[in-house]
Amino acid sequence: MGRLVVANLLVFAVLASAAALAYYGWSYTAEVSSRERAIIRDTMRELADEKISGIEQGQIVEADKKVFAAVHLDRPFEIKDIIAAEKAPVKSVYLLDADLQLIPGGTFSKRPAAEATGYRDRFEQRILPTLPLRALPVRDATGPVTRGHVHGDWDGEDALFAFTHRVEGGRDFYIVLETDLDYLIGVLFPQFFLPDSPRLYQVADEYGHIWGAPFKKTAGGVVVELPFVDTVDKWHLLVAQRDSESSSARGRRKLIDIFLISLSLAGIVAGLGVLMLAMRRERKANALKSDFISNVSHELKTPLSIISMFGEMLALGRIKTPAQATEYAEIIWRESVRLARLIDNVLDFAKIERGKDVYEFAEGDVADVVARALELSAHRLQKAELAVETELAPDLPTTMLDSNAVTLAALNLIDNAIKYAGDGKTVTIRLRRDGDKIVLEVQDHGPGIDPDEHERIFERFYRARAVRLKPIRGSGIGLALVEHIARAHKGGVSVTSEVGKGATFGFWIPIRSDETRES
Ligand code: ADP
Repeated sequence: MGRLVVANLLVFAVLASAAALAYYGWSYTAEVSSRERAIIRDTMRELADEKISGIEQGQIVEADKKVFAAVHLDRPFEIKDIIAAEKAPVKSVYLLDADLQLIPGGTFSKRPAAEATGYRDRFEQRILPTLPLRALPVRDATGPVTRGHVHGDWDGEDALFAFTHRVEGGRDFYIVLETDLDYLIGVLFPQFFLPDSPRLYQVADEYGHIWGAPFKKTAGGVVVELPFVDTVDKWHLLVAQRDSESSSARGRRKLIDIFLISLSLAGIVAGLGVLMLAMRRERKANALKSDFISNVSHELKTPLSIISMFGEMLALGRIKTPAQATEYAEIIWRESVRLARLIDNVLDFAKIERGKDVYEFAEGDVADVVARALELSAHRLQKAELAVETELAPDLPTTMLDSNAVTLAALNLIDNAIKYAGDGKTVTIRLRRDGDKIVLEVQDHGPGIDPDEHERIFERFYRARAVRLKPIRGSGIGLALVEHIARAHKGGVSVTSEVGKGATFGFWIPIRSDETRES
């Protein structure tokens, strides 16, 4: 019992350790993958930041500031040249006086002339009032260039305006630049977001329009989204990893990890299951073995005490008639035969348990073998008052067999019929050919065996529930021996029975000639 508890505790400990290992394996994998994703995300954020500042500071703000610094109130006509010299991404420029009125000659536009006038009017009426020009700090001759910007939608059109507030010769004035968004999209974006880079870039505007490589924000992939700050602040830059090998390889590796962890868990559980099953089987076998030992000792003791009792009577001359002496001698003889048979069974069984090469095959006639078994059992059958019916098919072919072993098998079946079906009146012994097999069947009309025990009945040491409580002696090795003998002949065993109506035990061996003999 103590050992059982320890074994169960060990099994539990192994299971718990396996579960803990699986958990750690799994969480480690998950942690590594989330750390990897975090690193990727950080790298991509840095990259997005760099791209945004490269475009804004490096290309737009810088150019704007240069333009702001170069424009002079007294030389408004220079604007065109300044724009050209600075290669500024500017679409139009407006110089405004302190009252926010356009300064004559202080307008520049890359638009065609007709369109430019219309746009200038729209600028004055609709756009200018919305720009927070007066809120800007003034830049004097020495201070840094200030720059304000507004990115917005005027009359359904996206536009970006950058502006500054200056004082020159004691006069306040404002410079407003309209950034060329087409240049931004058409030239700068393709320059910064190269199509063959390992990352995918998209710029999304406030309406959900997307510029750039197509990709979706999937659950698995890492996507970083950052807004523009100093220019088109209603737009966002999205960066994703190209669905490259690395991300699919990561997914695959995760799957493999999960698979391997589950496989090892399943292996451990299966191994433990098999181990426990083996332990249970071993325990059962041990229990059966001790039953076997007590049964066999009991079986040996009974004939021995009969022999010793009648031997003693004969020796002391306690007999009245010569007939009685003959009867005692017969009893002694019968019991010694029984004893010898039992010892044969046990020895043969032990031999079989130890190794395989216990059979000696030779061409033989099964009918002869059965006749010998019947002859050996005649006395016992007669004593049990059992009528024997034989149905022996004539002219059965000879086959390769170990005649001693087959006799032992037949004897065991007949013995069982006597032992368990003694009140069944008749025993039928049938020997027939069935295709390329020879079948021996022993049918009785005794109590039979429960169908759910049919499979176990041939196991060594197994005895049916119904007989365990009865005083019928047995060791549980007879049928195991029969099956072993049948299998050694490449044959098999069978049982059909209905409780209360008797049982038919049989074994078959194939018809083999010397040439086809294997091994
Ligand atoms: P043993 O007879 O020594 O117990 P066996 O291996 O010969 O061992 O038989 C195993 C069990 O099968 C028996 O204990 C008995 O329960 C059952 N059995 C065998 N033959 C018969 C039969 N003819 N009728 C009913 N039960 C049988």
